[in-house]
Amino acid sequence: MIPLAGEPLALDLVNTLALGPDGEDLDLLASPGTAAAWLDAQHDLGRLTGTGADDLDLPALRRLRSAVADCVEHARQGREPPATALAHLNDTMRAAPASPRLSWTGTAVTRTTGRTGDGRRDLAAELAEAAATLLGDPAVTRVRGCAATRCRLLFLPANPRRRWCSPTTCGNRERVARHYRKSR
Ligand SMILES: [Zn+2]
Repeated sequence: MIPLAGEPLALDLVNTLALGPDGEDLDLLASPGTAAAWLDAQHDLGRLTGTGADDLDLPALRRLRSAVADCVEHARQGREPPATALAHLNDTMRAAPASPRLSWTGTAVTRTTGRTGDGRRDLAAELAEAAATLLGDPAVTRVRGCAATRCRLLFLPANPRRRWCSPTTCGNRERVARHYRKSR
């Protein structure tokens, strides 16, 4: 179950920690199965980095998520992120740098980007770099939290009037609640 996907990858990562229907923590990175499903939903990240459910380092991924969440939370308010969180992202990227790679397909030369770490480090670096892209973009100050009281999901609205992570879940639930309050 993916609470919210299709936002910039860094936000999708932060959003893997959501609130369940009863306000309980819903953590997609708590078990290898849900984490692998999330990665597959993310542009096949699991396959790209050669990491399956068995070789995910979940504590490391959760630590990375918390650093990304920290940085995004500060940056979206125009505040300086904690130095330790920034350093963690820098270290993670440095552990598996990306470099261009050329290969011959049989008819043409293609240029792709490869990483030099093992699968786990490649995956972490890929996520950290997605965070770097978002954090370095002035648009990060437009990142918004869902307006629903029992939702903590973040999104980058294309339309400035967007208030909900999803109009069909949170938007609908709030409309129903408002109607209920009015009619009482
Ligand atoms: Zn929401």
